[in-house]
Amino acid sequence: MPTYKAPVDDVAFLLCDVFHIERHANLPGFADASRDLVAAVLGEAARFCEDVLVPLNRPGDAEGCRRHPDGRVTTPAGFAEAYRQFVAGGWIGLSVPAGLGGQGLPLALTYAIDEFLAAANLSFAMYPALSQGVIAALIFHGSPAQRSLYLPKLLAGEWAGTMNLTEPQCGSDLGLIRTRAVPHGDGHYAITGTKMFISAGEHDLADNIVHLVLARVAGAPEGTKGLSLFVAPKFLPAPDGRRGARNAIACGALEHKMGINANATCAMDFDGATGWLVGEENRGLAALFTMMNEARLVVGVQGLALSDIAYQNAAAYARERAQGRALTGAKHPDKPADPIIVHPDIRRMLMTMRSFNEAARALVMWTALASDLARRSDDDTARQAADDHMGLLTPVIKGVLSDRGFANTVMAQQVFGGAGYVRDAGMEQFVRDGRIPMIYEGANGIQALDLVGRKLARNGGRAVMAFFKEVQTYLAERANIDALNPYLLPLGRSLDHLQQATLWFMQNAIAAPDNAGAGSTDYMHLFGLVALGYMWCRMVEAALDKLAAGPDERMHAKLVTGRFFVERILPETALRLARIQAGAESTMALPAEAF
Ligand SMILES: Cc1cc2nc3c(=O)[nH]c(=O)nc-3n(C[C@H](O)[C@H](O)[C@H](O)COP(=O)(O)OP(=O)(O)OC[C@H]3O[C@@H](n4cnc5c(N)ncnc54)[C@H](O)[C@@H]3O)c2cc1C
Repeated sequence: MPTYKAPVDDVAFLLCDVFHIERHANLPGFADASRDLVAAVLGEAARFCEDVLVPLNRPGDAEGCRRHPDGRVTTPAGFAEAYRQFVAGGWIGLSVPAGLGGQGLPLALTYAIDEFLAAANLSFAMYPALSQGVIAALIFHGSPAQRSLYLPKLLAGEWAGTMNLTEPQCGSDLGLIRTRAVPHGDGHYAITGTKMFISAGEHDLADNIVHLVLARVAGAPEGTKGLSLFVAPKFLPAPDGRRGARNAIACGALEHKMGINANATCAMDFDGATGWLVGEENRGLAALFTMMNEARLVVGVQGLALSDIAYQNAAAYARERAQGRALTGAKHPDKPADPIIVHPDIRRMLMTMRSFNEAARALVMWTALASDLARRSDDDTARQAADDHMGLLTPVIKGVLSDRGFANTVMAQQVFGGAGYVRDAGMEQFVRDGRIPMIYEGANGIQALDLVGRKLARNGGRAVMAFFKEVQTYLAERANIDALNPYLLPLGRSLDHLQQATLWFMQNAIAAPDNAGAGSTDYMHLFGLVALGYMWCRMVEAALDKLAAGPDERMHAKLVTGRFFVERILPETALRLARIQAGAESTMALPAEAF
């Protein structure tokens, strides 16, 4: 049975020692976020994840969700009780402003807890994550009446949320949506269509399910410009706000899938269902924007989460499993063999996972603090800079953390040898569950295109220039710190690769857009590597400060793990640059019939 220890100390190190959360004390909700409070909140969440969710993860995977002949869907044993405990803990509204019924704490804490939840039980974590997405969309785009009707129920967990975009003929290309909404004159619309792959579309955890639905109002323009967003609950709210009559929304089928078996992935039928417009007609994508960006960050966090739990179990196994002898001579001559952790190739895998996890967590915390600034700062310049950061880094976090996170679950499985392939050790579940973050919330190829095709050029390249400037300034200001130089120099080389790649696109991809398309995934990873390398420099600097005060094993390990990253992972930027500069020719030369 896999075990899990939530990385509470590591998050506290990042928030308090690397990113100095106290410097944001002027932001609403931050004054209370002392080191003690951060530790207490994270500790409480960790206990719930370790004690309640981890034990449900494997049985939930084996049992899966069930759809009954009457269309009801039940979740695996124990999920309803765990959900009850989760909502009783007030976790759903942890970072929702106090004025709207939440606790107003920093979003950074919510993202940290999202990691713990997804590591412990990704299937479970998705139910409240969808509610949080609906809450965000209604806060920003709902009418006052919608906010007062839905937010209290969603925050209390009595009602849960979903997001209905995908249809059989329409996935990445939302312009192909066919679901129709016919206005009824009294403010409501009748929605008809079939949505597929809808996470948490139907289940038994909450009394009501609030669906956000993208649909096309009759007569609206074709493509994405004709999409509107609707809120359509499973049970219509009665005038007193309580659950009323059943709406014409049903789960037609459950998908049979590779992983996240305990999360109900539903085909949903809307048969003239009653819904209300959120935001303006034909501005549906804009209204979904907030929710989609947050959801993308959460999905990146899921990649990290699975990488971390897989790593933790692989490390424990490597300390126990005895095979062969250390190349430098037996480490345990009294035993028939040494534990496999003595082998450099096993270390290569463990250090690859570990050095990614710690930097990825830093990247998430850095960006989460930017989202707090973007939402809460009253300084226009700071808000704009934070918003630029979020826009630029969101596709990178979604794509890179889920790609590398999945690769790490496979690597952790490899550490287990054959025991990783059979079910008993639980490692194959991480591989199966870890595959989905690369696909949903916009497949990773689409994230890469978003970065290269939209985010780089936006506002004359303001966001990417600010990122380059930040890293360059950081490198220049610390060039004389000898202890940091082994980290700064490789980062400087990789930053140069990223800048060369950016320039190459500017010179070669505007007239020949296939050059951008063929290089976009490499560019996203190149960007991610530089961002992760920058995070390592920031962490090493903070670790050096702490080590100056006296020996500290954890901080010493940071220096070593950071060195592994800059020596053995970061050089991949040269390969990525070479691929980008090769252009699209050999990729596109064969005719489609040749495949
Ligand atoms: C388990 C699960 C849960 C899900 N939950 C939800 C949910 O809750 N709500 C919801 O609305 N949807 C949900 N989805 C749907 C998910 O978001 C889509 O599967 C995803 O966006 C990809 O769409 P698609 O499957 O139609 O693939 P397609 O769009 O057909 O893409 C296929 C491949 O082509 C690539 N591609 C497509 N267009 C381009 C292009 N222009 N340029 C380059 N490459 C391109 C993609 O990157 C991908 O690799 C879920 C899916 C799954 C499997």
